Amino acid sequence: MLVHHYLEFYAQGSADAPCYSFNDTTLSYRETNACVNRLANGLLDLGVKQEQRVAILGENSLEHCLLFMAASKIGAVAVPLNYRLTATELAYIINDAEAQVLIVLDSMAETLAALRAHLSPSIHLITGSLSDSLHWAPWLESFPSTKPIIEVDQTAPYLQLYTSGTTGNPKGVIISHFNVVQLSTMGLLAAPKRVARGSAGIVVAPLFHIGGAGSAILGVCYGQHTLLHETFDPIKLLDDIENYPVGNVFMVPAMIMFLLQIPGIEKRDFSQLEIISYGASPISETVLAQAMAVFKCEFMQLYGMTETTGSVVSLLPSDHHRALAGKPELLRSCGKPMVGAEVKVVDAAGNSVAANEVGEIWIKSDTNMMRYHNLPEATAKDLTDGWVHTGDAGYLDAEGYLYLKDRIKDMVVSGGENIYPVEVENALAKHDAIADVAVIGIPDDKFGEALLAVVVLKPGSSLTAEEMVEFCRDKIAGYKIPRRLEIVTELPRNPSGKILKKNLREPYWQNAERAIG
Ligand code: ATP
Ligand code: MG
Repeated sequence: MLVHHYLEFYAQGSADAPCYSFNDTTLSYRETNACVNRLANGLLDLGVKQEQRVAILGENSLEHCLLFMAASKIGAVAVPLNYRLTATELAYIINDAEAQVLIVLDSMAETLAALRAHLSPSIHLITGSLSDSLHWAPWLESFPSTKPIIEVDQTAPYLQLYTSGTTGNPKGVIISHFNVVQLSTMGLLAAPKRVARGSAGIVVAPLFHIGGAGSAILGVCYGQHTLLHETFDPIKLLDDIENYPVGNVFMVPAMIMFLLQIPGIEKRDFSQLEIISYGASPISETVLAQAMAVFKCEFMQLYGMTETTGSVVSLLPSDHHRALAGKPELLRSCGKPMVGAEVKVVDAAGNSVAANEVGEIWIKSDTNMMRYHNLPEATAKDLTDGWVHTGDAGYLDAEGYLYLKDRIKDMVVSGGENIYPVEVENALAKHDAIADVAVIGIPDDKFGEALLAVVVLKPGSSLTAEEMVEFCRDKIAGYKIPRRLEIVTELPRNPSGKILKKNLREPYWQNAERAIG
């Protein structure tokens, strides 16, 4: 089975049901399938062969979704690009992927101008919008809407997605058709309500990230109506959640944090919303508790990474209920492995450690990537015997719940103690004056590393280092309390909402070498 088989199934059985909505355009399953066929035939006409790369550059768009489906039909590999990258960074990825075709959306004209000189002369450029309401560009209209007859191997590459680049340069992750089909089965069994056929889902995460791409593709696998947002527009998002019978929306914690600060949010009516799924970076207990009180819907946490085609561990809605009914520590867990996924926690030698002992999290799943693109050494290091080495530290409790501590690269070793900054951030997030916080390790003559809290204050608030230390006293052990404080107006985040700690650390480490990372 391949992703486009779902599309064709619904295009026959539920032909008029809405498939994708974007701005003022809604395409039914039948219309989507016809457009996808035209695009697939158009790409074949340009000479795109199986396993060749078709890149797309722009904010979230219908074109991305059509490309995901068309790539499935002809065995091409879709490469959605991060539109926030510079022309030089984009050129590196496009050339590294040896893309045969580059689709550039209208809004990226300026980037394209800077990019052109760096592109291979043989690349086919498709510019302008493929879709403008339903007025298809002449290029697309010249191709038939009949299905191309191509035999596609399920184990071949399907998506090439780049990691978020939180800890270093983004790595190209090659995901097979099989990986994505398995992801749909895992998601189906995790929370049936989330994926009810005919219900709507909002996709607001970027489509060049597995969180966004996965949701947009799975919407079709589940026969849902996907309301696609171009970017994260908080008011539009709240309006859509209020106005549509939305089954599911996936948000990264930074989005949730942002929404909660919008005046009047508590007066809105979210009773139509079934479930919010969240993940991709740590959520503070304070933000989660506020979100649960405001949205009053089900919540599901997802843990995973690009290398595992997204979520492989989930804290189910039932676990959230259990937490509220007397087991609050469960809200600090990211849950249990989803069906077919295995998790182990290992020591430096790769041996499993006992329950409650911290080590590196390794994952085995049918959704594990095929390999990193053009990075054989990184592949050999991080994918052994079918296990993905996540680079995340954590532990499994006796019941099998996974607790994330932090990324190993972000761990701070101070005076011989391992400190996981996420735990410290969680404690600080409870302070009334603090709107956002990141904790990092900076060089220290006495302890090797010392903790620095980089804090964004709420409007009109103030905080001194002494007050911060005092606040932490009954919350975390003394050696975990940051003594230094830096106040900033905003934390650096990448488009997937992750705090770029390497950027925060950089000025402090120019003349010193970190033991980790
Ligand atoms: P890079 O690998 O380039 O440094 P990245 O790891 O941020 O970037 P992604 O694949 O987008 O790129 O993110 C996966 C990582 O996100 C995980 O390894 C983990 O650290 C973090 N993450 C994912 N889900 C969660 C979650 N539910 N809670 C906390 N952190 C999460
Ligand atoms: Mg990573």
